[in-house]
Amino acid sequence: METNSHINDLKLLDNEITNCKKCPRLAKYIRNISEIKVKRFADQKYWAKPLAGFGDPNAKLLIIGLAPAAHGGNRTGRMFTGDSSGDWVAKVLYDNGFATKPTSQNKNDGFVLNNAYITAAARCAPPDNKPTKEELQNCSTYLEKEIQILENITVIICLGKIAFEACCKLLGIRGAKFAHASTLQHKKFTIICSYHPSRQNTQTKRLVWKQWNAVFARAKRMMK
Ligand code: SF4
Repeated sequence: METNSHINDLKLLDNEITNCKKCPRLAKYIRNISEIKVKRFADQKYWAKPLAGFGDPNAKLLIIGLAPAAHGGNRTGRMFTGDSSGDWVAKVLYDNGFATKPTSQNKNDGFVLNNAYITAAARCAPPDNKPTKEELQNCSTYLEKEIQILENITVIICLGKIAFEACCKLLGIRGAKFAHASTLQHKKFTIICSYHPSRQNTQTKRLVWKQWNAVFARAKRMMK
């Protein structure tokens, strides 16, 4: 498949995702969040729509997160952008040669991915970061389509148990258990688990920088 074809297919998919209304609970939640906001972003207009993935259409590395953050991606319109998880993702990608800069603040900040693509198990921010099983099932078709379009992907990093389980379900992998830094080979994919870089995990030191960086350094080695 030619690059232009990847780009066109991704654009069509992006449009489909952005207009998706399959989960009424989440549609209502992201709309409410955009009206209530938080004090520090009170003057900003929130994106408040489902989020498509983004990155290099010819990427070998796919990163699967849980879902957009209520005041991060749901505000800025790009996954892992404008919140503390995004700070960790942007820096580790930059440090390992997958991004043009170490910060991801807004859609027009020049943060561009190279050989990497970021997506999520659910595309709408869920209350308490907990999508229901039905919402994850609704959204799985988009991840499936992305994996089909991004045909150069060989390494998948799953950020957290929910992302890992969504990935396994999609690929028909049974009985695999999530553990930080564990690796699984399935057909053409090497799947690496990592704790999600949520503030809850980083502030409690459940995830520290050295462990986090090691996941991406390993992914890079495996792509060669
Ligand atoms: S979570 Fe996914 S399936 Fe549900 S409304 Fe958002 S984009 Fe659609």
